[in-house]
Amino acid sequence: MADRLTIGLDIGATKMAFAVVDVAGTVLDETVLPTLSTQPYAQTVERIAAQLNTYLAEYPLIEGIGIGVPGPINREAGVVLNAVNLGWQNCPLRDDLLAHLTRTLPVYIENDVNVGLISEYFYGKAKDMTHCVYLAIGTGLGGAVIINDQLMRGATYMEMEIGHYAIDPVNGRQCTCGQRGCVEMSISGKGLVSNATAHHADYPDTLIPVDDITTYAIIEAARHDDELATFVIDEAAEVLGQLCAWCTMIFNPNLIVLGGGLSHGIYDLVIEKTRAEMRKHCLPQSYDAVSIELSHSINAAMGASALVWYFQKESQLS
Ligand SMILES: [Zn+2]
Repeated sequence: MADRLTIGLDIGATKMAFAVVDVAGTVLDETVLPTLSTQPYAQTVERIAAQLNTYLAEYPLIEGIGIGVPGPINREAGVVLNAVNLGWQNCPLRDDLLAHLTRTLPVYIENDVNVGLISEYFYGKAKDMTHCVYLAIGTGLGGAVIINDQLMRGATYMEMEIGHYAIDPVNGRQCTCGQRGCVEMSISGKGLVSNATAHHADYPDTLIPVDDITTYAIIEAARHDDELATFVIDEAAEVLGQLCAWCTMIFNPNLIVLGGGLSHGIYDLVIEKTRAEMRKHCLPQSYDAVSIELSHSINAAMGASALVWYFQKESQLS
C-alpha cells in the first residue's frame, strides 16, 4: 500500500528540515526552515507546529511524525533532555507539539544519531541487518546500535556516548568534556584540527596554513602526501580501528556503518589502516562476521520519518 505517509523532521543547529514520505521512502514534499536557535523555545514550537499542520491538512493519510534532535531524549516521555546547540533543556517537545496540532497522532522523538541508524536500517546499508553498529563521525563522534532488530537504549538515555571514552587520559589532548585523550580527540573534525594544531610546529614544511587549520585543509593536504596531515589521518585511522574493534567485541555485529560528514571525507584515506588495526584487536570469529561500510547519506528528514515505521515495528515485537 503506497499511500501510507509519515512526516520526518530533522532539527539541526541552523535549519529544520521537514519531509512528507511514503512507506517506500519516496519524499513527496519537503521544506526547510531556519532554526533560529536564539528564539525562545515556545516560538520555535509554534513555527514547527504551523508547518506540521500545513502538511496534516494537505495529506490526510499521514499516520505519524518522527523527529530527530541533537542530544539525549527521554523517548517515553517525548522530552528533549539537553540539546546544547539548540539551547533546549528538559523540553517536553512531544506534548508541546500535540497541544498545537490540528490532529492527534503519534509523535516520536529520538536523538539524531539513533535516527541515522534507523535511516540506514530502513532505507540504507543496514537494510535487512539484525545486528548493526552506526558511528556518526562529524564535528564530534557518537554511536548507535541495533541488536536483534531493536535499538539499544541506556538507563539514562546516554547510550553509545563512545566519543568521550578516554583512550589516553594522561597524555591525550584536552577535550571539551573535561577529560583528556577522548576517542573524538583523534577521530572527529574537532580531533583532526586539535591534533594538527598540536603538532604544526614539528612539520615546518606542511601545506596546512597555521592560520587556517581546518578539517578541509587537513584532508586536502593528506591527499598530497603532506607529512603532518598523514600523521593526523593515520592516528584517526588507528583510533577508528580500535573503536570498531571494541564495538565488534562487545556487540558482535554483522555491519558497522560509518556515517556523518567526516566519514565521507576521509573514508578512502583511513579504511585500509582502520581494518588492519581492527583485526589486531578482534577475535577472528567476530572480525570475520563484520563488514564496514559508508552510510548511504540519506536525507535527514526522510530518515526521521522512518521513526514512525520503526516504533510501529518495535511495538509489535514487544
Ligand atoms: Zn571528551
